[in-house]
Amino acid sequence: MVSLPHVKSHIAKKIRKLFNKYFRIAFLCTCIGGPTGYVSCEINETQIEESVKNYDIIVIGSGGGTKLVRPVAKKGYKVAIIEKEKLGGTCLNRGCIPSKMLIHTADVAMAIKEASKFQLEVGSPEVRFEELVTRVCKKIDEESESIRPVYEADKNITLYNGHAKFTSNTTVEVNGEVLSSDKIVIATGADVAVPDLKGLSDVPYMTYRDALRNTTKPKKLLVIGGGYIATELGYFFGALGVETHFFVRSQLLRREDSEIREEFDKAFSSQFHVHKKITLKEVSHKDGVFTLSYEDENKTLRKIEADALLVAIGVTPNTKELGLENTDVVLDEKGNVKVDPKMQTDARGIYAVGDCVGHFLFRHSVNFEGEYLERLLFQNQEGPIKYRPMPHAVFTHPQVAGVGVTEDVLKKENIPYVKGFCRYSDSAMGMALLPEYGFVKLLFHKETKKLLGAHIIGEEASVMIHMLIAFMNMEASLEDLLNMIYIHPALPEVVRNAARDAEKQYS
Ligand SMILES: Cc1cc2nc3c(=O)[nH]c(=O)nc-3n(C[C@H](O)[C@H](O)[C@H](O)COP(=O)(O)OP(=O)(O)OC[C@H]3O[C@@H](n4cnc5c(N)ncnc54)[C@H](O)[C@@H]3O)c2cc1C
Repeated sequence: MVSLPHVKSHIAKKIRKLFNKYFRIAFLCTCIGGPTGYVSCEINETQIEESVKNYDIIVIGSGGGTKLVRPVAKKGYKVAIIEKEKLGGTCLNRGCIPSKMLIHTADVAMAIKEASKFQLEVGSPEVRFEELVTRVCKKIDEESESIRPVYEADKNITLYNGHAKFTSNTTVEVNGEVLSSDKIVIATGADVAVPDLKGLSDVPYMTYRDALRNTTKPKKLLVIGGGYIATELGYFFGALGVETHFFVRSQLLRREDSEIREEFDKAFSSQFHVHKKITLKEVSHKDGVFTLSYEDENKTLRKIEADALLVAIGVTPNTKELGLENTDVVLDEKGNVKVDPKMQTDARGIYAVGDCVGHFLFRHSVNFEGEYLERLLFQNQEGPIKYRPMPHAVFTHPQVAGVGVTEDVLKKENIPYVKGFCRYSDSAMGMALLPEYGFVKLLFHKETKKLLGAHIIGEEASVMIHMLIAFMNMEASLEDLLNMIYIHPALPEVVRNAARDAEKQYS
């Protein structure tokens, strides 16, 4: 049964669409017909049609959306790409790439700090902070700027720098121009999510956008958030000598497998100040000092001061100012664009990929979705999207990486499984690396022995996980992992030892 509010909003949408169409005609008449306005002008539909630029595809957003730009243009189709900020999206300009360039310096600093356990006395590292951030920003800006000439040189690509807004299911307005297509891709990503905290809007806090371009090294940093953005950026500052405090409502990296989470918590808390299960109350800023009030896990009211505050609770989909009310596109309760298994929205011909859809929030996942859509729309590939096992990594010290299900999910869903476990320290390479933390955990189906999930915490976890991503893609089983020859004494022997541990439990 159709509910009344739904009917109401549907009618309201139709009225808005009609109004927009009429308003556009009126607006164009005013422009074309001069000061007498639309009442006296003699404009016809053909003139309006001529002012609209037609494309084979319109892509809004130059992050993962670019997977549908050059490959499509190469096939001879006319592509419009619209971007309101720097070309390259979040990953290049304010996400994966600058963060990992900065974090590499943090990793080097960490290795120096830990050198003493390898009988090396090198003193404590001093970072040339401003120079570091300037180098990273310069490189990513150059990379972003190198995209424009490539697009401009391609006669099938038209780049629009501006904010795109839908005016109907087939038209988008940007910088006063109207573009139309029967294929429009929303790839608008996500932006900083801000918590509802008293006083926050009045203080000069940093978000990841600011933190990655901040050239002044703080003395003491308060980080609100415990997800991967908060932990990676906090780790960057902390490893370079900033006194870093994390404030988390529940736990750090709460979506990880619980054993990984516990190990991470131990490792991270030994390096930085982690305040868990807290409730934030208020923040203020005076004479360059932030004061954060919070209730600790025992409900005691506390205050802490620092010269920097980073708010990193996550992201929210970029779907609010897109003119979606003029289309049949439907959003879910979190503001994500709803799509069917072919990435098509409720509006025929409008598709969406990436963070604005929210299936996964990674650059590798939006790339996968974008490449799928390109094959679907321009190579007549049929069938719904079939996601491969989606891996992830957290670039901290220790690193965390995973693919497939967690043990918590297996327990919750009553799926029979066998666990294989090995600590880094229980391997030949462990004798060289002297790791305090870190392990590999493998989860196999109890009957089929298929690999269901792999979780790693420790040195090079983001690299080590790749052999397990490959195994999961091949639907490999425990035997496959045991039968291959591992290079001795390389780090992947920890994976083999975890597989051997699982084997023991079958016998
Ligand atoms: C600090 C940080 C670190 C990260 N690290 C990693 C990592 O290591 N690995 C990983 O896989 N992922 C990482 N991510 C996540 C990753 O960056 C995103 O998941 C990915 O970039 C999303 O791609 P997208 O194409 O969906 O959106 P985006 O890359 O955000 O692209 C969307 C684009 O659309 C534009 N846009 C939005 N609205 C409009 C409009 N109305 N008109 C015109 N243009 C518009 C935006 O300006 C933006 O450029 C990180 C993110 C952050 C913030």
